[in-house]
Amino acid sequence: MSKEKFSSRRKFLLTTARAAGLAGIGALVWSSMLEESTASSLILRPPGALPEKDFLKTCIKCGLCVSACPYDTLKLAAPGDHKPMGTPFFDARDIPCYMCTDIPCVPVCPTGALDEQSVSTDGELDINLSRMGVAVIDSSACVAFWGIQCDACHRACPLIDEAIIIEYDKNERTGKHAFLTPVVVNDVCTGCGMCEHACITEKAAITIIPRDVVLGHAGSHYVKGWDKKDEARIKDATGATTHTELSKQSALDSLNDDSELY
Ligand code: SF4
Ligand code: SF4
Ligand code: SF4
Repeated sequence: MSKEKFSSRRKFLLTTARAAGLAGIGALVWSSMLEESTASSLILRPPGALPEKDFLKTCIKCGLCVSACPYDTLKLAAPGDHKPMGTPFFDARDIPCYMCTDIPCVPVCPTGALDEQSVSTDGELDINLSRMGVAVIDSSACVAFWGIQCDACHRACPLIDEAIIIEYDKNERTGKHAFLTPVVVNDVCTGCGMCEHACITEKAAITIIPRDVVLGHAGSHYVKGWDKKDEARIKDATGATTHTELSKQSALDSLNDDSELY
């Protein structure tokens, strides 16, 4: 092979190798972007966010909600966050939503991805209507369930004694102490995350999870007969309904009553 031919063949091979390398890197970046865009359903969105699928279709990633937040709660997802790129989210352990009464992050949204109606009553904004997620307690890690006195999450909650209540129980192990344990009221909790932010354990024992991930749905054919509000759901029932009435007997009496069993 002549010297010229060898050098042009070498150039060709080098160019091909570089192009293949770049294509490889491009494919790697693209696949990681795809991975980020489809990753984790455990994302906390700003107040008033549409359901996740609609939110992703509607949010134009302008960042106006992020700029409007006075507490730096909201961030736009960047590479490495493992969330759809450019979409707003918050990490409650780091900075929770401080439940601003004027909810500045919502009205600025130009597309309705943050729906003002969903956080308003009679045209007035009401942050207590927001449902960013729901607090879930890991009773194996929460020290209050061990009998140690802690109510940090309860005290941090802006809806104290409404969204988190404290239940009292006798500590049978010591016989002379009480358990004072936090319980989340799912219907009232906004998912602001102030409880998760305040939790004293190394990794929070109370965590905010998107509501559709964690909450169940009994279906319209099960109706709580003792709850007038729940009876309204009968209107939506499609098949036979099952009524559960409040028993007049104590639990122990019911268990000891043979006629109930056979
Ligand atoms: S309600 Fe306030 S703290 Fe919460 S995300 Fe909106 S602007 Fe930020
Ligand atoms: S203001 Fe609305 S459209 Fe803009 S990033 Fe926030 S949610 Fe998305
Ligand atoms: S997330 Fe926590 S602090 Fe916020 S309303 Fe729910 S229980 Fe209260």
